[in-house]
Amino acid sequence: MFTNFLVADLENDRCVRPPHTDGNMQDTVSFRKQIEWFANNLLVPEQREEYLRFFEPENLVPLLRRNRGFYCAHFTLQIDDDRHDVANVISLLPAPCGSPCGSDREFLFAYVLDITHLQEIREHSRQLMQQSRLDPLTGIANRQAAENDIAHYLHVQPEGESSLLLILDIDYFKHFNDNYGHETGDKVLSFIARTLKATFRKEDVVGRWGGDEFLLFLKNFRSMEAVTERLHKLRTTLESFEMDGMSLPIQLSIGGAVAEGTCNSVLELFRLADTALYMVKREGRNGYVYFTDTYVRAF
Ligand code: GH3
Ligand code: MG
Repeated sequence: MFTNFLVADLENDRCVRPPHTDGNMQDTVSFRKQIEWFANNLLVPEQREEYLRFFEPENLVPLLRRNRGFYCAHFTLQIDDDRHDVANVISLLPAPCGSPCGSDREFLFAYVLDITHLQEIREHSRQLMQQSRLDPLTGIANRQAAENDIAHYLHVQPEGESSLLLILDIDYFKHFNDNYGHETGDKVLSFIARTLKATFRKEDVVGRWGGDEFLLFLKNFRSMEAVTERLHKLRTTLESFEMDGMSLPIQLSIGGAVAEGTCNSVLELFRLADTALYMVKREGRNGYVYFTDTYVRAF
């Protein structure tokens, strides 16, 4: 933990530093020299120039004035072998009432607070948050995260824009588990997740809805022909799946529903896509049906 502070009189380039071990404030020194000493002895080399520029009174005072006399800057210190993230809290303070130097004089108060631990906690919670969004087996978004992203996008989708929700279910997936073992089933699921990611755009939502079902949500969707073409490509890749030199073709049934403009009900969209999927399953699997105004079989 590192803390430090100083009070400076910028007009006269003087500052006082925190109490020494004897409990007394240390003698006044040149503010500029103090800043230089700090930069040269405590700051990581790559930030020295920026730090010195930041503390130039011609830069710092206008910045503080623009921010109502208060600013917080972040720097990194190197103390022995440890790096410390610090918040440098700076404010301009008026001279105390009745001060012999006059009430219009201002002093600078700068306080350095070690926030390394806070940063670590923040990074840790960011990672936890990230992990909680992912399906542990396939590494793509889990059901909750995918549904949230879709609901959020539908909420902000501009008028005149469309998106397409697809639910993809593996045909006879149980056979992979039953005939080749659960581990092979897991590899099939991971392969599909990777292929979906590689086949569609990075802004599209790819998620595992659960079991052997996946979700695809294509934002700013324009042409069903282009989507169908990509689905054919997906089909070709999945049908060529091999494990240990053995061909294990994977087939999917796909149900889709188009969402236009704002005010789409997420539940209704899922219901329409799920009904389309059910139609594919009922009609023999390995195909694609989507809903716009009516149900259409694409392949
Ligand atoms: P259909 O063509 O009608 O979709 O039949 P199916 O066999 O694909 O579908 P069904 O829903 O009957 O079976 C899905 C199976 O997926 C059942 C379950 O044991 C298996 N499963 C669910 N999650 C996992 C998983 O994480 N790993 C593996 N290996 N299997 C899973
Ligand atoms: Mg299935």
